[in-house]
Amino acid sequence: MKFEDYRISEEIKKSLEKLGFKKPTDIQFKAIPPIMKGEDVLAIAQTGTGKTAAFAIPVIDKLQFGKNRRREDGIKCVVMVPTRELALQITEVFEQIGRHTRVKTFCVYGGVEQGPQIAKLEAGIDILVATPGRLFDLVSQGHIQLHRVEILVLDEADHMLDLGFIHDIRQLITKLPRQRQTLFFSATINETIKDLAYSLVNKPVRIQISPKDPVAKNVDHSVMYVDMDDKRYFLERVVKENPDKKILVFVRTKVRAERVMKAMERVGIQSMTIHGDKEQKDRLDAMKKFKKGDVKLLIATDVSARGIDIPSVEYVVNYDLPEQPENYVHRVGRTGRGTAKGIAVSFCSPEEKPILDEIQTYLTKDIKVLEVDKDDYEATIDFSAAAKYDWKALLQEADETNDKIKASKAKKAKAKAKKKK
Ligand code: ADP
Ligand code: MG
Repeated sequence: MKFEDYRISEEIKKSLEKLGFKKPTDIQFKAIPPIMKGEDVLAIAQTGTGKTAAFAIPVIDKLQFGKNRRREDGIKCVVMVPTRELALQITEVFEQIGRHTRVKTFCVYGGVEQGPQIAKLEAGIDILVATPGRLFDLVSQGHIQLHRVEILVLDEADHMLDLGFIHDIRQLITKLPRQRQTLFFSATINETIKDLAYSLVNKPVRIQISPKDPVAKNVDHSVMYVDMDDKRYFLERVVKENPDKKILVFVRTKVRAERVMKAMERVGIQSMTIHGDKEQKDRLDAMKKFKKGDVKLLIATDVSARGIDIPSVEYVVNYDLPEQPENYVHRVGRTGRGTAKGIAVSFCSPEEKPILDEIQTYLTKDIKVLEVDKDDYEATIDFSAAAKYDWKALLQEADETNDKIKASKAKKAKAKAKKKK
């Protein structure tokens, strides 16, 4: 079945054609009809399979033709998402699909001033995409009314129902009409969250695409055994062997992100970082440059793993393995989106082996191993533009500096404690 044959508005069809969406993806095929009918839906489908449009198309269609609906009456649909980047991205999809309709979408998220967001809200909107924290603040201050909401969508539902967000979400749900349609979308789900999810929906239609393999089939993923200290050489090699490709690298911590960027800089490779310590404007800037392809290497922590759809990311490198097994799926799922194919490789050091085991248990299968024989391994290190540096000396120097800082901190603390006495 093609979108042409759907009973959705001509205006939406026109936008889909412009976007190059001819046929629905599996999840769209299964989710659109029950959503149009007004049923609650719990949908699980792999990364990059078009979940956004699976809810955006029917939601816009419903709001476009709703009887007795006036914008002044208030927001009709709330879409909750875990990150600012995702809020912007989903808003863009709603805007693209709703371009020829009069359905208005807007997004709010934290980390920036409230003022401009409030002004925009006052002008009236139909669909609000939001991160829970900012939404909670604006609702508490009376800038947002939720009593006319007909549809609640939770994208990345498992993450949203996870510890960090659940408090705000619970509070927000009490402000929504009981009579509403609730839609949950995610690529992964676990048992604890499942129960919670069920408690928030009413006789939901459950849709699960390929439950056996949470990794999207367009992603060719493998693991490579690399010592912690040698990872930088292997990343350098990946980058130099793939000069035209956009590569997204995931690391465990913000500090490591900066460190890897510096290591790449030393061997003449330009990159940018994105993580929770960065200003919102820098995060957006890095994302924009990477999207455009001005920067080919982006180094990220898990903040940006969820849901982000960056065109033509051809390669994902797990420089460090993710501590939460499901994040493996979300990270490698940043490539191989839509009909594109993607490659993902994970660097696993001996100390990370237990994490790898956990991930494989979660996937219920082993990850393909990329064998690197001893000569090849040595050659990768020798080949490095950094080989001319004496790394050991550099590292020692860094350690010494660290020790000095620690010693001086301890001294200060001691002095302070003395003063108190
Ligand atoms: P998910 O939320 O499942 O990870 P997205 O909604 O971000 O995936 O969509 C992934 C990519 O697939 C996007 O680039 C989107 O434009 C594309 N896409 C979605 N639906 C279709 C379709 N029906 N035909 C072609 N491409 C599509
Ligand atoms: Mg998504």
